[in-house]
Amino acid sequence: GRFIVFENVTKRYPDGTTAVDDLSFEVAEGELVTLVGPSGCGKTTTMKMVNRLIEPSEGRILLDGEDIRAVDPVRLRRHIGYVIQQVGLFPHKTVLENTATVPRLLGWQRAKGRRRAAELLELVGLDPSVYGDRYPDQLSGGQRQRVGVARALAADPPVLLMDEPFGAVDPVVREHLQNEFLRLQAEVRKTVLFVTHDIEEAVRLGDRIAVYGHGRIEQLDPPARVLGAP
Ligand code: ADP
Ligand code: ADP
Repeated sequence: GRFIVFENVTKRYPDGTTAVDDLSFEVAEGELVTLVGPSGCGKTTTMKMVNRLIEPSEGRILLDGEDIRAVDPVRLRRHIGYVIQQVGLFPHKTVLENTATVPRLLGWQRAKGRRRAAELLELVGLDPSVYGDRYPDQLSGGQRQRVGVARALAADPPVLLMDEPFGAVDPVVREHLQNEFLRLQAEVRKTVLFVTHDIEEAVRLGDRIAVYGHGRIEQLDPPARVLGAP
C-alpha cells in the first residue's frame, strides 16, 4: 500500500524561507527511499514533518491512510523510529539500558525489556554479552550509531526516519554500517525515509532515490534510473 503520502506539502519558516515547495510523493509499505541533495535543499524539513517535529504550512501528510494531524501524538511517536547523525544516548545508562528505554516507557516488565534490548543489539551487530554493560563513552562512534538504530527499532515501529545516521563516522565504518543496515532492512522491512548528502550512499541503500533541489524532488526513481540519467 501507499504508506506515507505527501500531498502538496509546503513549509515556509517564519523568516520567509521556503524550505519545501509544493511537494507530493508517496512511499510504499516496506520501501526504503533515500532523500539526497546538497545541504539546505529541504531534506531534513521533509523528514521532520512526518513525525510532526515541524508542521507544514500547506498541504497534508498521510500515514497508512490517516492524516497525521488526526493521529494521537504518542501513538505517532511510537509508530515512527527516528535516528539522527549524533544519536543522544543516556551517558549514565548502559548500552542495554539505553536500548531498553522504549520498552520500559511502553510499560514492559524489566526482564522482558532487557530480553528485547538484547535481541535488538544482536540485530544491529553488537553482541549484548560484550557490549550490553558498557556505557556510551566506552563505544566507538559507529557502535553508538548502532545502539541508536537498535533503540529506534525497540517499539517495532512500521516507519523509520533516518537523518544522516552514518554521516559522522569514517568511510570504512560507514560501509560496514550500510551493509548491516541493508541486512537488517531485509529482515525487518520497515518503511524508511533516509536522508543523506552522499549520492553513493543514496544509490546503495535506496529502493528509490528522491533527488532534491531547492525544496523540490527533481527525480524519484530506482538506483539504475538515477545512475543512467544524463
Ligand atoms: P537539508 O536537510 O537538505 O540540509 P533543511 O531542511 O535543513 O535542508 O533546510 C532547508 C532550508 O530551510 C534551508 O534554507 C535552511 O536554512 C532553512 N531552515 C531550516 N530550518 C530553519 C528554521 N528553523 N528557520 C528558518 N529556516 C530554516
Ligand atoms: P568502529 O570501527 O566501530 O568505529 P573504533 O575503531 O572506533 O570502532 O574502535 C575499535 C574498538 O575499540 C571497538 O571495538 C570499540 O568497542 C573499542 N573502543 C573504542 N573506544 C573505546 C573506549 N573509550 N573504551 C573502550 N573501548 C573502546
